[in-house]
Amino acid sequence: MMVAERKAVKEEEEYKMKLTILEKTEQNLIFELTEADHSYANALRRIMMSEVPTLAVDEVNFFANDSALYDEIVAHRIGLNPLTTDLSFYNFKEDCKCKGEGCPLCQVTLTLKAEGPKTVYAEELESPDENVKSVFPKMPIIKLIDTQKIKLEATAILGIGKDHAKHIPGIISYKNKPVLKINNEHKQFNKLKDNFPKQAFVEGKLNKDALLKNNLYEACGNINKELLEVGYEKNTFIFNIESFGQLTPEIILKTAIEKLNSKLDDFTKSLKKSKKI
Ligand SMILES: [Zn+2]
Repeated sequence: MMVAERKAVKEEEEYKMKLTILEKTEQNLIFELTEADHSYANALRRIMMSEVPTLAVDEVNFFANDSALYDEIVAHRIGLNPLTTDLSFYNFKEDCKCKGEGCPLCQVTLTLKAEGPKTVYAEELESPDENVKSVFPKMPIIKLIDTQKIKLEATAILGIGKDHAKHIPGIISYKNKPVLKINNEHKQFNKLKDNFPKQAFVEGKLNKDALLKNNLYEACGNINKELLEVGYEKNTFIFNIESFGQLTPEIILKTAIEKLNSKLDDFTKSLKKSKKI
């Protein structure tokens, strides 16, 4: 028992994960995770995709729809329209004080009223909360011709990607960090270099940055190992978070880390409990 406990502490100390941001834009975040393993990296990716909540329309009430599209198709299009989400304000309906009845803390009702001839865009969905609006204002919802009308109420709630794809906050991927060994001094360099794509060169030499750009090294790894050898760092991962716009990539990452930590805490507690029994 003592031995097992000591080993657990040692293992904890062995993992000193470090997260370094490499590139950041409004929509994208690329970061490096060191001293981690595949199981942690993949758990983090999966939680970011399937358990970070976002708002999406879940129910649509139609008061008028003279358009060429059925109510169901219009509702489906509105459901897939990404909405900016304030996670600090909204609760899951089932965890809310209203006990799932629906209140301003767990749902937001958008309204749409339009008359043809025109194209109705996502920006025309009127929201009572200025923090909840369409991420892509010019996304077309429907086209109306002369005299056609549409009038509806759409209720958005918090949900997760595991329950419905409309709640997925972005595309998240990771790969092991590549290690490139380049030999520009090889005696047959001039003969062999023509086998490589010209984008891999800067001033006539194989260039690390050029090879890393757009993952070009992946296509060049097997051309000639004497000139370019591609390896991977086992415990270092490069993550790419591409947000769909409901949440910033930083919030997606932060929320996922908090979720994963709380899951690990629960797991540790349940282990300790079962040992006592
Ligand atoms: Zn509520």
